[in-house]
Amino acid sequence: MKIQFEKVGAAPKPFECTLEGLTLEGTLKKSAHHRVALLSTLEGEISLVCDRCGKHYTKMLKSPLALTLSDEMCKDKEDLDIIEFLDGVIDITYILESEMNLQKSMYHYCPECDESEEILEIEF
Ligand SMILES: [Zn+2]
Repeated sequence: MKIQFEKVGAAPKPFECTLEGLTLEGTLKKSAHHRVALLSTLEGEISLVCDRCGKHYTKMLKSPLALTLSDEMCKDKEDLDIIEFLDGVIDITYILESEMNLQKSMYHYCPECDESEEILEIEF
């Protein structure tokens, strides 16, 4: 799903994008010159592989996702939440894919392993 950067105005523009059981739903709104604010919720099922026993399992997710998007190179690298779309096209699928990969790259146990060994869950 792609949205032209210049089509996003001051009024929140709703979007919804689904990929492999995960849905990213929210709004895009112009926040400043060359800046668009993305406010959304990431919700659905994600398939993960247990880091302990290697078993595939699914996990329900629901977490807020707020990002700043820019269509120019950001000199201010301190803001790590800025995603650059230098061709002027906001690729929602790419954002959703990145979030999915981020979730998958985190350390996680399947429910059975989780029960046998207490780990700290990060709640959103
Ligand atoms: Zn396991």
